[in-house]
Amino acid sequence: MDQTLNAPVDRRLPDATRGTLQRWLTGPRVDGLPQLAALPAPALSFEFFPPKTDALETQLWACIRRLEPLAPQFVSVTYGAGGTTQARTHATLSRIVQETSLTPAAHLTCVGASRGEVDDVARAYWAAGVRHIVALRGDPPVGAERYEAHPEGYAYAADLVAGLSRVAPFEISVAAYPEMHPTALSAEHDLDNLKRKIDAGATRAITQYFFDTDIFLRFLDRCLAAGITVPIVPGIMPVSNFTQMKKFSAMCGAGVPDWMGRLFEGLEDDVETRRMVASVVAAEQVRLLQANGVDEFHFYTLNRSDLVYAIAHILGARPAKAPTSA
Ligand SMILES: Cc1cc2nc3c(=O)[nH]c(=O)nc-3n(C[C@H](O)[C@H](O)[C@H](O)COP(=O)(O)OP(=O)(O)OC[C@H]3O[C@@H](n4cnc5c(N)ncnc54)[C@H](O)[C@@H]3O)c2cc1C
Repeated sequence: MDQTLNAPVDRRLPDATRGTLQRWLTGPRVDGLPQLAALPAPALSFEFFPPKTDALETQLWACIRRLEPLAPQFVSVTYGAGGTTQARTHATLSRIVQETSLTPAAHLTCVGASRGEVDDVARAYWAAGVRHIVALRGDPPVGAERYEAHPEGYAYAADLVAGLSRVAPFEISVAAYPEMHPTALSAEHDLDNLKRKIDAGATRAITQYFFDTDIFLRFLDRCLAAGITVPIVPGIMPVSNFTQMKKFSAMCGAGVPDWMGRLFEGLEDDVETRRMVASVVAAEQVRLLQANGVDEFHFYTLNRSDLVYAIAHILGARPAKAPTSA
């Protein structure tokens, strides 16, 4: 993202060039982003959450149908804290297997369950045709101050990755934090933890969302220096509700740069303009990443397709085939 947006803007023109074209013709130049045609099509993945109501179910399935023709590498479905969405996550994944051409990935957490219970959930996913798991520790339940491992459970995501490998030959993805997990002892500890998860059998990391592209690119350098060679796929969050996103970001440790606040200021009651601004922000972020060689993107869809579809289109994604009938 353009760091100059953070700098105070000096709107005064030098006297010599005021009112002339000279100030444009002699000003600084930036390199253009690469032509889409010169780049390979990126691999995309989309994340959904399991719906709680019939109305939300309808919204989710409209979103899935709209994004399906973009032929993502996989689509993942989240798992509520402490297994609260276990049945809904499973039902959503089963329907994806049965009714779509999509490759599903199931999120699974360690919180509040014994190893045997977690293994049973994984076995049920395998039986339903799910071959890819996003293995996570999970957050402490609402009201709990800090995370406590279940006495007979997997303590951390690295333990879960090792356990899953014993259940079935799943493809396993894990979480990564370019700005560090909020409760990690240090960035080094957190990177060691990511390495442990990869060494335990994960073949991809998906990042927490971030808005400062430089932070992600520096994180990639640190991963490589630590001997991590699997893809670290950037998690992209299109932001249509800035106020909500800012609150959530404070909890999950994702920095919200000042320039974003300036872009969304005054739009609190103007949903339509906010959405247009959101697509420009996300499009600029993904194009910058693409210009830096990144060719895999994981989108947090929040079960809405419009922004994600537009951004994927800008990235060069085009429908591979007609959508299957609902
Ligand atoms: C892509 C993505 C998808 C997500 N999906 C979900 C979801 O579906 N459901 C959900 O509930 N949450 C989800 N989360 C949130 C995630 O569960 C939380 O961020 C959680 O707090 C950490 O999970 P983790 O898998 O990163 O944990 P871990 O990798 O286990 O790390 C958690 C923390 O513990 C530290 N740590 C690890 N091992 C040790 C050790 N041996 N000793 C001491 N400290 C250690 C780490 O440095 C880190 O601070 C997701 C996050 C991401 C990025």
